Amino acid sequence: MSDANCIFCKIVAGRIPCTKVYEDARVLGFLDVGPLSEGHCLIVPKAHAVRLEELAAADVQACAAAAAKVGKAVVAATGAPGWNLLQNNGPAAGQVVMHVHFHIIPRRDGDALGFRWPAGKLASEDAQRLAAAITGKL
Ligand code: AMP
Ligand code: ZN
Repeated sequence: MSDANCIFCKIVAGRIPCTKVYEDARVLGFLDVGPLSEGHCLIVPKAHAVRLEELAAADVQACAAAAAKVGKAVVAATGAPGWNLLQNNGPAAGQVVMHVHFHIIPRRDGDALGFRWPAGKLASEDAQRLAAAITGKL
C-alpha cells in the first residue's frame, strides 16, 4: 500500500510537504514543484503503485475523476484555454517518480510545450495483426 522510500508516499503520509489542491479518500492533488506552466498539478493515488496498469481499478477511477475536477478548476483559476492530461509509465516514457501520477498541464496558444507527434500511417495488415495481438492480451 505504501513504499517507505517513495517520495509521493512520503507526501501522502505528510512526511514531506506539498501544496495541496485536492484530497479525497483515495487521491491527493498538489502543485508540481517543477511546473511546465502556471498551475501544473499532479494527481496521485494514495495507494502506492509504480505504473497505471498496477493500480486497482477503483483508484484508477478515483484518479480520473479527480483529474477532471482539478483540471476544470485549474483552467478556471489560471485562465488557460486548454490543458493536457499526461501520465508517464516507465523510464522509456519519461517517468522519473516511480509512483503513479497524472500531470495536469495548463496550455495556451503558442506556448512552447508542443508534444512531438511524428505521425506515421497505419497499414491495414498491421492494424489487423496489432489488434489481434492486443486483444489477445486483455
Ligand atoms: P514524471 O517525469 O512523470 O515522473 O514526473 C515527475 C514530476 O514530479 C515532475 O514534474 C517533478 O517536478 C514532480 N515532483 C518531484 N518531486 C516533487 C515534489 N516533492 N513535490 C511536487 N512535485 C514533485
Ligand atoms: Zn509511492
